[in-house]
Amino acid sequence: MATATTTASTERLSSYNPATGEVVGTVPIHTPAEVDAAVARARVAAQSWSTRSFEARTEELVAFRKALAAQADELASIIHRENGKPELEALVEVMMALGHIQHAAARAETAMAPRKVSSGMLANFRATVSYHPLGVIGVIGPWNYPLFTPMGSIAYALAAGNAVVFKPSELTPLIAVKVAEIAAKTFALSDLLQVVTGAGATGAALAKAGVDKVAFTGSAATGKRVMMAAAERLTPVLLELGGKDPMIVADDADLEKAAEACVYGALTNAGQACISVERVYVADAVHDRFVDEVVKQVRALKTGGDDGHLGAMTSAAQVAIVRDHLDDAVAKGATILTGGSDAISGNYIQPTVITGAEHSMKVMSDETFGPVIPIKRVGSLDEAVKLANDSTYGLGSTVFAGKGARAIADKLRAGMTSINSVMGFAGIPSLPFGGIGESGFGRIHGDEGIREFTRTKSTAEQVMSIPLNMMSFRQPKDMPKRLRGMIKQLYGEGVVAKAGDLWRRIRS
Ligand code: NDP
Repeated sequence: MATATTTASTERLSSYNPATGEVVGTVPIHTPAEVDAAVARARVAAQSWSTRSFEARTEELVAFRKALAAQADELASIIHRENGKPELEALVEVMMALGHIQHAAARAETAMAPRKVSSGMLANFRATVSYHPLGVIGVIGPWNYPLFTPMGSIAYALAAGNAVVFKPSELTPLIAVKVAEIAAKTFALSDLLQVVTGAGATGAALAKAGVDKVAFTGSAATGKRVMMAAAERLTPVLLELGGKDPMIVADDADLEKAAEACVYGALTNAGQACISVERVYVADAVHDRFVDEVVKQVRALKTGGDDGHLGAMTSAAQVAIVRDHLDDAVAKGATILTGGSDAISGNYIQPTVITGAEHSMKVMSDETFGPVIPIKRVGSLDEAVKLANDSTYGLGSTVFAGKGARAIADKLRAGMTSINSVMGFAGIPSLPFGGIGESGFGRIHGDEGIREFTRTKSTAEQVMSIPLNMMSFRQPKDMPKRLRGMIKQLYGEGVVAKAGDLWRRIRS
């Protein structure tokens, strides 16, 4: 972990178990000077790491993955205790994070392979696009998936040849500290992956620390602040923000499967996922049957306890947001079929199914980030698509339908869509992950997620001389005439298809 080389912080931050309120552990609150020092150390590590072969980097990333896998239970236990999610969900999170390390390490060389591109009119050139590490990446992560989500940036940034300084959420810092300890023992360069801890101010310091890119995951409001801070040095940013993901259920959908996916998609991690199903549009003809099935499945779930499907909400602040959304929906005429505001106890929220949901309600327009399933009846698929697209967010989306499913999916304004499944795109490491609008920009995962942490370099190499050199002031007197001819032939009514043919004509 980052150790202070400048004035060390004396203040500490506590991480609490949201289920019990007990302190799970404490971490330092790193000062801006300590963040700067961590970035400076990372820069030294990056210089060395970037010069290693892909093979050498892969070897170390595989060792890192194995070291994490060896401690999977301990990692899951930390996530369970400081985030509140059930152990099983924590273990799934560890597994998915490991999958990304494996994928990023295996794909980096291919994703970053230089490629020849057409040299167009400059036929005497060889044109190449190549990808190179940026240097130091600042990763700022959220609390809801405190390992999986930041690993979607960390693994890809490392595989692309960068060093990383990671600032976890103040609600879940211990898992990050544990990962950094394992990294320091595994990587030959102990400063390759460092963690700085603290509250928002530490994250703000990282955004301003002169890193080569900031990969931020969190709320849209904080994302805007991070972007403004990064703008001071024109530091590029990748923003993975919130969502208000719609699900559409057509009248020819398999209703039982659709309900199962809806219940899981809306309630996994107690609904605290950026790609949670946050609103559901159901065709009129099947609405009532779908609702019955959803309610039946929700009633079979258990909240709290060692064998619970839903754990404690990670923060009381999030509980307050969910309560506000439920009260607003009821005040505006929605019907609560299970759960509801009255069933909230401490940090535990019973899964809540709402019908008669309308876009005038917060539960259909703002990110709820809780175990709530608001359902709206629609008269047609066109109406469903129109309503689904009626959002400032555009992250994930889900379609359950028969043969028209693909056509519906194509009309959704979102970064990702799962057809006849839910969240499928998040489990496939080769698919880029990210959104549009208030859901942010840039992509993690996939080849795009590797190249996100590279600079693209274009090289134009002249491989043979030709009599007419456009990049020179020494031009023949009749150059204007020749140019007029070229314009006509290349871009006007002419028939010259290839630049090579044109050069031959001009020379003759
Ligand atoms: P926040 O925006 O509150 O915080 C995100 C991170 O930013 C935390 O580490 C936080 O630190 C830090 N931070 C806070 N203030 C600043 C600042 N001024 N400058 C820099 N960093 C700062 O988000 P949450 O942690 O509440 O996460 C939930 C949000 O994340 C939801 O909106 C969810 O949809 C989104 N999310 C998006 C994902 C995606 O891939 N699109 C995936 C997962 C979540 P601290 O906690 O210490 O204040």
